Amino acid sequence: MGLLTEGHPISWEETKKLSKHVRKHGIIQFINLYKKLRDREGDVLKWGDEVEYMLVKLNHEKKTAKLSLRSYELMLKLNEKEQADPSAVKCLWRPEFGAYMIEGTPGQPYGGLMAHFNIVEANMKHRRLEAEEQLKSEEILMTFTNFLRLGSPDSTEPPANPTPDTGYQRSLFLSDEAVFPGHPRFKTLATNIRQRRGEKVIIHVPIYKDENTPKPFREDLSALGDDGSSAKVAKDDHIYMDAMGFGMGCCCLQVTFQASNIREARTLYDQLTPLCPIMLALTAASPVYRGYLADIDSRWFVVSNSVDCRTRGERGLEPLKGEEFIIKTSRYGSVESYLSEQGDKYNDTKLLYDKEVYNQLIDNGIDHLLAQHVAHLFIRDCNLQSTNWRSMRFKPPPPNSSIGWRVEFRPCDVQMTDFENAAVVCFIVLLSRVILSYNLNLLIPISKVIENMSRGEKRDAVNKEKFWFRKDITSTGEKDNALEADQYGEFTVNEIINGKDGVFVGLIPLINSYLNNMNVDADTHCTIQRYLKLIRKRASGELMTTAAWIRKEVINHPEYKKDSVVNETMTYDIIKSAYEIQKGVRSCPELLGFCTTSKTTETIPAAIAIAEKCHLVN
Ligand code: ADP
Ligand code: MG
Ligand code: MG
Ligand code: MG
Ligand code: MG
Repeated sequence: MGLLTEGHPISWEETKKLSKHVRKHGIIQFINLYKKLRDREGDVLKWGDEVEYMLVKLNHEKKTAKLSLRSYELMLKLNEKEQADPSAVKCLWRPEFGAYMIEGTPGQPYGGLMAHFNIVEANMKHRRLEAEEQLKSEEILMTFTNFLRLGSPDSTEPPANPTPDTGYQRSLFLSDEAVFPGHPRFKTLATNIRQRRGEKVIIHVPIYKDENTPKPFREDLSALGDDGSSAKVAKDDHIYMDAMGFGMGCCCLQVTFQASNIREARTLYDQLTPLCPIMLALTAASPVYRGYLADIDSRWFVVSNSVDCRTRGERGLEPLKGEEFIIKTSRYGSVESYLSEQGDKYNDTKLLYDKEVYNQLIDNGIDHLLAQHVAHLFIRDCNLQSTNWRSMRFKPPPPNSSIGWRVEFRPCDVQMTDFENAAVVCFIVLLSRVILSYNLNLLIPISKVIENMSRGEKRDAVNKEKFWFRKDITSTGEKDNALEADQYGEFTVNEIINGKDGVFVGLIPLINSYLNNMNVDADTHCTIQRYLKLIRKRASGELMTTAAWIRKEVINHPEYKKDSVVNETMTYDIIKSAYEIQKGVRSCPELLGFCTTSKTTETIPAAIAIAEKCHLVN
């Protein structure tokens, strides 16, 4: 996505009128693309991460930390190198929803060499330094999922007041100034979602009930200019939020893989789906919203509710009008149907899809599973792939490009350090290789995956929750009773990741057995082992999740009054500590362990590349 290069966005009223047309053409486009590319074969493994960053301005005298609304300025600078020579850049920068956010990816995707696992972290470090060159004094770049006081008074630099009666979000808390100004897409999205829904979005996050938290916890919203509509929907004992920015303003970590063909892409999409809730729990990093400690640990459902554009009719609150139908979920949520043939029998949830679209796809030779996937995306107005956000994304090749069929893994909260983010990314990519090489089967009924997503956001889910998971993921033989309860059971994250004798094999033991058969150079081996160690210890509870660490910092802060409030000084202190941990000037063994330096390098030494050439990961 460019900065200002795209045309003038149209209003929701205009969009609505055009919606049928857009939909029809979207489907024809998909059909043509599918016909042209369904038999595309032999693409090699390529993969890459996306990291979202936030800009924070510290004031050491006043002890404040505020979101710096300068990402547009920064973006113009950061894109200069790419504009001059896109093939030579080490990283690419893209705008994100927040006026304080930027997204960075490697300049080129990584490939199939094992040694690529050793350059991910160095590239992330490079990215951070490149962006940091553009910062003003006292500004810092953070990989922090949710700014602790996003939407609290006086939390941006420059200061920006909310405008409950005008603008595109109409929030009582969050100013439109906090939405990225340099691209019309974001404002338009925010406006369209509110207008289509017919009212502001509603986000309820359970508050963490501490000794002195008011019982019930209830805020005076009229003091903020509420006309009564917010007070009507706000729930006791919940942190109430009312704007898209509260969700889309969170930072996450994503990974995209290229598959060798459409079949493999569909397999990867399905096999990684049951892993989404597990990784949500393991990477949980957002326990504070709008200056209050919450009783959840990750951003997922906040984002989901922040873009819930369903009308009252579609949400089942009013009689349906015209062509409306009841839609159970937001346009941001879990995968709701598997795509591979193997996955078909695990699709136990009735998928809502547009029958007309479905028939049109079937008539054009598209199979049932893919047709229902696409027709499901098209139940939403103005439906473009990029405004349907699921835990996994199936990415068809862009027209006229050399890029193949890809899948994207999307559930993870972003971590504070490059070391952790690289560990998460490498773990997922390695796992995708193990799944393909060993022909693993992780499938469970999709309804159970959806249920797991809710478990995954819970406070300390990694230690306290159990997740539905397949008992035997290694045997190739499929039983007839695939859907029956004896095929899957409830496991802790520790059991799933590390295994349990005689009960479950464990994902890391499988990765290690795969690595034993690979030709891995010593440095890469060492790096990978450090990453796996981090994942292992997070899963076992020996190390804290980022969310647990933030929670601990809040609760132990001298200014914390056991009332769930995260004030400005606490925000400053926690952000500053997080920054020092990220810079490596403060150790944090409870989060990272004692050994956090990897042997990461910016480029793969030629000798290693040659030695590995015959040992592609895939
Ligand atoms: P989006 O925002 O649509 O998810 P981005 O372009 O921001 O996608 O990021 C996609 C990621 O995919 C980047 O890390 C990029 O390096 C990587 N990537 C680029 N080309 C390929 C490819 N052919 N196969 C797999 N990954 C790719
Ligand atoms: Mg992106
Ligand atoms: Mg994106
Ligand atoms: Mg992004
Ligand atoms: Mg992405």
